[in-house]
Amino acid sequence: MSKYKVNVGDIELISLTDGKGAGEATEIFPTSDLNIWESEYKELLDGKVIHPRFGSFVISLKGKLIVVDTGLNGPDGELLDDMKTKGIDRNQIGMVINTHLHPDHVGWNLSNGQPTFPNARYLVPKHDWDYWTGPKIINDAPWVTDSVIPLHEGRILDLIEGEYDITPEIKAVPTPGHTPGHISISITSNGYHGFILGDVAHSPAQAEYTDWSPAFDVDPDLARDTRHKVFDKLERENILVAAGHFPKPGFGRIKSSKGRRYWIIE
Ligand SMILES: [Zn+2]
Repeated sequence: MSKYKVNVGDIELISLTDGKGAGEATEIFPTSDLNIWESEYKELLDGKVIHPRFGSFVISLKGKLIVVDTGLNGPDGELLDDMKTKGIDRNQIGMVINTHLHPDHVGWNLSNGQPTFPNARYLVPKHDWDYWTGPKIINDAPWVTDSVIPLHEGRILDLIEGEYDITPEIKAVPTPGHTPGHISISITSNGYHGFILGDVAHSPAQAEYTDWSPAFDVDPDLARDTRHKVFDKLERENILVAAGHFPKPGFGRIKSSKGRRYWIIE
């Protein structure tokens, strides 16, 4: 079994899970081909269905704890139980980052109307905030009303723009397309590099079939372009990747051999 904790220099990354979704592979990825799924990615299929995981990561650095994404908080939501099992006290979390404002990334921002992480500030990309709270969208995005706006009203939400240094080791970088303000998290410590992908990709199959964009990308063309650029860099620099929607625990690298590009589990 692969490990749920990895090190990037002095930083520890801990993988958490909040259950998983379900959808037909060719509905989630409309330009994908069921024959390819069946011949190359059988291990990801359950009949014709794939199950993108709702994964989060904790970044631990010298006693400082940051949660990246907070799952869906659906009927099988298990994020808080998983944290407990892994010895993480939610009161110790000093910061929460939402890579974007889709419902499967903000689900546990609050619990029973109160911040789930009472001692944290919450970081949200400003372009996503502007998009999702705009008058045309907000009525169709009840999760934003429920799980994001109260943080703003409680003055514990910070909006960030562009490349943003969270600490000297941890940086938010814009990776737009899936949503307008989508960010990933780049980590550098002691010469080691890691990258929390967010929703730049949803399946290991996209390492090879990088053109496959999921139906829920706001701008599929931009998302595809971003995914190519990000994957090329991750491969070229052999960077450790943390991917929340990939199978547990979601750590791996992008590698090529014989003209094909693969996701290699760490
Ligand atoms: Zn997602």
